[in-house]
Amino acid sequence: MTNYRSGFVTLLGRPNVGKSTLINKLIGQKITITSPIAQTTRNKLKGILTTSNGQIIFVDTPGVHKPQHRLGEILVKNAKSAINGVDMVIFVIDSSEKPGRGDEYILNFLISNQTEFIVALNKWDLVSQEFRNLRLDQYKGFFGINRNFHIVSASEGEGCSELVDRIITSLPNGPKLYSEDTICDQPLDNLLSDLVREQVLINTREEVPHSVAVKIEKIEEMKRKNGKIFTAILATVIVERSSQKAILIGKKGSMLKIIGQSARSNMSKLIDGPVHLELFVKVVPHWRKKESRLIEFGYEEDF
Ligand code: GDP
Ligand code: MG
Repeated sequence: MTNYRSGFVTLLGRPNVGKSTLINKLIGQKITITSPIAQTTRNKLKGILTTSNGQIIFVDTPGVHKPQHRLGEILVKNAKSAINGVDMVIFVIDSSEKPGRGDEYILNFLISNQTEFIVALNKWDLVSQEFRNLRLDQYKGFFGINRNFHIVSASEGEGCSELVDRIITSLPNGPKLYSEDTICDQPLDNLLSDLVREQVLINTREEVPHSVAVKIEKIEEMKRKNGKIFTAILATVIVERSSQKAILIGKKGSMLKIIGQSARSNMSKLIDGPVHLELFVKVVPHWRKKESRLIEFGYEEDF
């Protein structure tokens, strides 16, 4: 065990570049939510990968972006605090696009913070063959040629095992920090509420923006008449306006039904057993601006 390595690795990058997808792929299990809409990852979430020669504790962060609300400020603050004291920072890029203002903001922040990092050029599958050299040159120009680039595709898996090897060889010697079968440090509540929020974001698109929180009110194991065990979950979806509530519920409850069915299906995969899910929608005006509400709905600020 003398050569065993372990440490914390933070993935940083603009919203929607594929940080959560990449962690899921590297760990091989769906533990963090991903969606086509930016800013789905709210709390920092740690995913743990244990191999025969090392243990990587990935810290997923919400994308760094310009703060607009109190919630936005907390997201950015947490992302920034996630790079302090970790063993390695991976700057994740959406390489289907050329370098942009958002990347520049993060790059300047890392430089001013004197943080070492490597670059993962993600979504490489979306760059067509004839543009690949050009795209690589654009990023070399942006980051400097001496930078370590890793070409990956989080959705296809290309370059992922090489990235894991690279990470482990740069971690310090150390023991396993979590037991081998731990893949996530978040309580079940958070994972379950994220699965509901994910479906809200996917199904309502831009109509119901990021003013949605989900609170898990009850998780209970119950027995059916035939003796089969299932998990009953009661969750409240919190929105800021009654117009948003109407969209979420949909005509004759059609939207809430779709959201509930998809969330339930993912929950039963997570729990590995049948789930009965009940969803309620509640309006709490301006919850994102209220500290007590942010804490109640699971957004903790950490320093
Ligand atoms: P995050 O905000 O950085 O955590 O981004 P997500 O992991 O939520 O991913 C945002 C979107 O990009 C999702 O729709 C993913 O399926 C998609 N995505 C992530 N990685 C890749 C990739 O390598 N290739 C392609 N084609 N899509 C990707
Ligand atoms: Mg994410």
